[in-house]
Amino acid sequence: MCVQGTPPIEELREWQRAVRAQFPIITGHPEHAYLDSAATAQKPQAVLDCVQTYLTTTNANAGRGTYPWANRTTALVEQTRDRVRRFLDDPAPEQSAVHFTSGTTEGLRTIARDWLPLLLTDGDEIVVPLADHQANIAPWQEVQQELSRRGTHVRLLPMPYQQSSGDYDHIALADLAGPRTRFVAVTHVHHVYGGNMNVHRIREAVGPDAVICLDAAQSIGHLPVSVTELDADFVVFSGHKAMALPGSGAVWARQTRGPAFTPGGWPGTPNTVGIASLAAALDWLDAAGTDRIERWTVALAARLTEGLRHLEAYEVLGCRNSLAADSPVQQREGIVTFRHRDIDSGDLGFILFSHGFMVRSDNHCQGSAGERTGSVRVSLHVYNTVEEVDQLLTALHTLG
Ligand code: PLP
Repeated sequence: MCVQGTPPIEELREWQRAVRAQFPIITGHPEHAYLDSAATAQKPQAVLDCVQTYLTTTNANAGRGTYPWANRTTALVEQTRDRVRRFLDDPAPEQSAVHFTSGTTEGLRTIARDWLPLLLTDGDEIVVPLADHQANIAPWQEVQQELSRRGTHVRLLPMPYQQSSGDYDHIALADLAGPRTRFVAVTHVHHVYGGNMNVHRIREAVGPDAVICLDAAQSIGHLPVSVTELDADFVVFSGHKAMALPGSGAVWARQTRGPAFTPGGWPGTPNTVGIASLAAALDWLDAAGTDRIERWTVALAARLTEGLRHLEAYEVLGCRNSLAADSPVQQREGIVTFRHRDIDSGDLGFILFSHGFMVRSDNHCQGSAGERTGSVRVSLHVYNTVEEVDQLLTALHTLG
């Protein structure tokens, strides 16, 4: 989807002011602009309150004791599974599983370790997005190697990308995928380019039987994620990027394509406080409206991209069409990554912090087909403002 110019956000200004006021770390530090939400998101008061309430009224282990705090904690864990299903617009909750993890990395690794070997047989193929986050590459490569040691040979097909936009090339994917293509790993929103990767087109490209595994680390909390619409079989995300506590996260598994997802081994004590924070965060996000959050962050990203294209010293990564003077600004889901012609990206990160901006500068854990040199990533969330974007552009302008 493309946005013509900078979309109007005036109508969201009042709403955004009220939402921003709910983030104590943001309002408590007006001297800083936090522009690193793709690394981790800040937490609204409702999540902080939920954590405090849980730990001061209910804290106990889950699934073990029979006294009220233990029962309440067990119920909380089960209710949060349903909360995740509702958040993801699960069409058949009785046919899905929700498994809690410490985040996306562990979630993807669990699918790779405990489930994928059950699906694959000799001669099967898996599609892997080699320009995405390492967390969505390494586990699949490791499965392939492990299976090969056991005499099962699986072909790893590199996901094709569109040169101009950095999105997946679903037409090339349709040519690549055949009847032996059993598993396709995709990312909903690219963590460097910010592009919405057109994952709704993956099903038609790979056919009705392939399993689609969605890394939703950068989309949960930023835009509506509907498994009904995407026809995904796995959705994996991190709680901390979705306004819950670090160490929380989930794998949602559809359970109707391939073997059932039942992660092996004794699970040990779950991260109950993380799970409590996840339920509160999903409640908060639904109440705020992920559609409005998306409109806001897309608009801010478009404003930043538009501003950067007037600054000659900067190159914006991905979505390259957007840099042509007469082309529409391609939609970026709140992430804009760029380099300065002469200033090292690490140095640029330090300089920007001296102006109050917290950004990420390195090569962003991208896979082997990704960018080789560092860059500065600005990642926006609902608490960021138009003024912060404009001040950032002014600071970038003064650097030449
Ligand atoms: N996938 C993507 C697209 C990411 O952006 C990240 C983190 O930045 C991860 C996976 C890994 O997430 P985590 O470190 O929370 O496990």
